Amino acid sequence: MKLSYSAISTYQKCPLSYKYSYVDRLPTKPSHYLSFGNSIHSALEFFYRVDKPEPYSLEELLGELDRVWLTEGYESETLEQEYKTKGQAILSQFYSDNLPSFAVPLAIEKRFYLDFDGVTLSGVIDRVDQEENGDIEIIDYKTNAKLPPKSKLNTDLQLPIYHMAAEKLYGVAPKKLTLYFLVPNEKVSTRKTKTDITKAQATIHSVAKNISDKKFTPFKNPLCPWCDFIEICPLHANDPVMLAKAAKNGKISGSKTAVTSTAKTTTPPAPNSVNALDELKKSATKIEKVVDDYFELVEQINTGRARLAGLQRIIHDYCEANSVTSIKGARGSVGRQPRRTTHYNVEKLRALLEPRGLWDNIIDVNSRLLKELLDDPASQDELRKLIGTAKEVEEISYVLYKKDELAEG
Ligand code: SF4
Repeated sequence: MKLSYSAISTYQKCPLSYKYSYVDRLPTKPSHYLSFGNSIHSALEFFYRVDKPEPYSLEELLGELDRVWLTEGYESETLEQEYKTKGQAILSQFYSDNLPSFAVPLAIEKRFYLDFDGVTLSGVIDRVDQEENGDIEIIDYKTNAKLPPKSKLNTDLQLPIYHMAAEKLYGVAPKKLTLYFLVPNEKVSTRKTKTDITKAQATIHSVAKNISDKKFTPFKNPLCPWCDFIEICPLHANDPVMLAKAAKNGKISGSKTAVTSTAKTTTPPAPNSVNALDELKKSATKIEKVVDDYFELVEQINTGRARLAGLQRIIHDYCEANSVTSIKGARGSVGRQPRRTTHYNVEKLRALLEPRGLWDNIIDVNSRLLKELLDDPASQDELRKLIGTAKEVEEISYVLYKKDELAEG
């Protein structure tokens, strides 16, 4: 299986969006964030792709930004100009910060392939620097508006993947792995230990396994309003609030957004994927009808159950009052017979089985009694906590519910 960091990261955010993007290869909409990021990356590639340590001037760097500027995804010329000015400011700051230490990098836009556990991992490293003593630093440029939370930085797979790539490409572990956040102008540098790498490999392995097992359950996340597939997503396709947010972000078809391929790491759309998208939109409309039918049927069943219970009661009463065990109707007869329910005398059972060493074979936790014990105000908090620590999820099953009822409840 072939994977990239962005494919894995997409899967981790939402397995269904991974499927739409990398399996179905549905087209994505142009995004000015992506155009902006790629333009800045191209300008910095130009700046460092030199043979001798004589850097370009700032004018030349800004001229390159102009030359490689990508225009897709901007909703207005004003917005585009705003971003261009921002790009010029970022590069000017970068230039003045990095000019004094300018050196020809070991590599620029370095492609790598890693093979392990049946997974071929590929990617491109923005820049690799090498110190005089041979130490290697991996640098990845980011154009996010701000730094992600530390927890995300610690668990993100990109740097462990780059660590493994550097080991494979240069035969040594990198001394430093740096994320260079250009907008807030902050660098975050780290090193990865063997344990970090083993953990990362386990995560990659588990993502790859889920993909090959075709586990593509949608996962609601804060980026849903920016998802290219929200119109066909079973979780949001009929959610007017989310769709309005997505429309605001230019993610709904029919706006000025044209269908195009996007990131440098995004797979190009398959030739028939536009038709596939139409098909999925149609099926999203169909699924709305299915949900309406589902609720109608649930209502009918509930009404039917209540009516059935009423009729049963009348039949029981009639049989009791008239001492009969069956009643005939035009469609057949209804019989009535006693059903014996038994229960065991626990103490008696215990006295019989315990001496024979069999008592432990039959005792089990009674969930209802356990719940009563937990709900009992007399139970101490400590006991509740203790019992809580013994709780394990054995299996997850899914239930359907009427959303409004849940919200009200
Ligand atoms: S809208 Fe959200 S839940 Fe639906 S596919 Fe996109 S990312 Fe996944």
